[in-house]
Amino acid sequence: MKWYNQIRWKLFVAHLITIMVAMVALLTTANIIAGVGLVHDASLYPNASPQESALLERFQVVFQESLIAAAFAALVAAILMSLFVSRAIVEPLQQVTQVSHKLAEGFYRERTTVTTDDELAELSRSVNQLAEALEQTEQQRRALLADVTHELRTPLATIEGYMEGLIDGVVRPDTQTFSLILRESVRMQRLIEDLELLSRAEAGQIQILPRPLDLRSRLEGLMIQFTAQFEAKQIALELIAPPIPLPSVYADPDRFDQVVINLLSNALRYTSSGGRVTLRIRGEDRHAIVSVQDTGIGIAPEHLPQIFERFYRVDKSRARASGGSGIGLTVARHLVYAQGGDIRAMSDGMGKGATFLFTLPWATMPAPDETLPPGTHA
Ligand code: ADP
Repeated sequence: MKWYNQIRWKLFVAHLITIMVAMVALLTTANIIAGVGLVHDASLYPNASPQESALLERFQVVFQESLIAAAFAALVAAILMSLFVSRAIVEPLQQVTQVSHKLAEGFYRERTTVTTDDELAELSRSVNQLAEALEQTEQQRRALLADVTHELRTPLATIEGYMEGLIDGVVRPDTQTFSLILRESVRMQRLIEDLELLSRAEAGQIQILPRPLDLRSRLEGLMIQFTAQFEAKQIALELIAPPIPLPSVYADPDRFDQVVINLLSNALRYTSSGGRVTLRIRGEDRHAIVSVQDTGIGIAPEHLPQIFERFYRVDKSRARASGGSGIGLTVARHLVYAQGGDIRAMSDGMGKGATFLFTLPWATMPAPDETLPPGTHA
């Protein structure tokens, strides 16, 4: 930066100009009122006696000396003031600049420590907020990278182990071995597809095309898709809905299906034979509530708040054995939020089953007399 562009010089010049203007104003005023300028003008007092002239001349000299002394004092004051003010402004600014440079270099833990109570402190606070947001994003990026690496390494290690066993002749090249290898590669394929969906959901890139949707017929259609799987595992699947016709909800049919399929797949996965899964529709003033309740393994209270986080699995080994990657609920939450709803999970604890419920807005808000009583359900 050129020296004349620096704040401290700009401040000094500003002070200097103020002093000069004040001195010119003083001189002009003195000249007008008493005829006292920098040069003694005898023609102003043609009838003055020699004593009066000498006195006037003396006054002129004293005036000029006082003016020079005052100008000098003002100059010193200007230098001191410029230094003081520029220090108060420049130092915090330099600190903020340094921290921004560090942030740009990837040191997201840097923070400014401006303690003043002015606009500079506000600037410092915004820079710190920015740094915090960057640090959080960076942490999430690292966690995601670590999770993905871990998730891919496990099936890859299994495939590698089998391949080595096959080459060394330790593992028999039969259908069972090949099915195991295939199962692991299918798992990797599914993980990659889930990840792709997750990254699109997190970037808000999944297109939502909502339209009025009849909940009951939509859910009945989905239940038919699942009949064979539920029958194979001997789990009962039922739908409970209010006996009165319900208004339509406003949702994207494909995204709605995706959410319900995810919840039903989980219910199926985490419920053992002989259990029951209940789909329920309820109408509230502002929205419809769809819930999926199972009589499965349940979720311990300490895990409940985390299960919507990506890659979160209550029992990592068990979930992996059953093919779960811990992404389904994260995507479901994104999809529900994008459709203007909310989603949550409830469970009375391990072995006591789990209930997942999500809301969707009505397509048209029902008129007051048509409003369903809160909690209307069959
Ligand atoms: P996953 O593909 O592992 O099922 P999700 O994101 O769908 O991933 O679920 C995250 C975790 O939440 C699961 O690993 C499981 O531990 C728990 N979970 C989800 N649904 C149920 C359920 N119906 N009963 C018990 N636990 C569940």
